[in-house]
Amino acid sequence: MTKTNQGLIFLSCSLLAASNQLQAADSDHEQHQAHVHGEAQLLIALDGSTLELEFQSPAMNIVGFEHQPKTENQVKAVEAAIETLKQADLIFTLSSAAQCNPVSIEVKSPLSKNDGHGHTDDHDHEHEVESHSDFTAHYSFRCEQPSRLDKIEFDLFKRFPGTEQLEVQSISKKGQQKIDLTPGNSTLEF
Ligand SMILES: [Zn+2]
Repeated sequence: MTKTNQGLIFLSCSLLAASNQLQAADSDHEQHQAHVHGEAQLLIALDGSTLELEFQSPAMNIVGFEHQPKTENQVKAVEAAIETLKQADLIFTLSSAAQCNPVSIEVKSPLSKNDGHGHTDDHDHEHEVESHSDFTAHYSFRCEQPSRLDKIEFDLFKRFPGTEQLEVQSISKKGQQKIDLTPGNSTLEF
């Protein structure tokens, strides 16, 4: 098994655990993975020196449309958004004292031809109904001083002004929390 696979399996397990625990802690509040334009979701798990972030956003917030790109500009907008999301430091800033370095970053959108789901462009997608699409991004970091990770500042709102709210669920040995960040309140305190 490759290191990457192990990392991904770890991520799924820890995020699933985080999600389940948070769900239990928050049962009066319906758990939603709802696709609501303007809202995005982020799961954060800090386990030992490993920090994992799983971001999901409606494509509307990111590129302003959710259909398959129809023009050259739309194709470029999708690829540019993916490149931006891949640059973690454009999206969020981790406490520098924690000395976190990216281990792997993966960004996906069904709107991208490079998504690996093999869209065959030139087929007329006339059956294409008003469907929703997301962007997802997976960030994995190794932190030399994880105990000094006390905040994460999100520049996401500046990069993608269509994002009005980021629902954050985090879990670390300091505890778990659920908080909604907004452009005016864009710092997560651990
Ligand atoms: Zn949508």
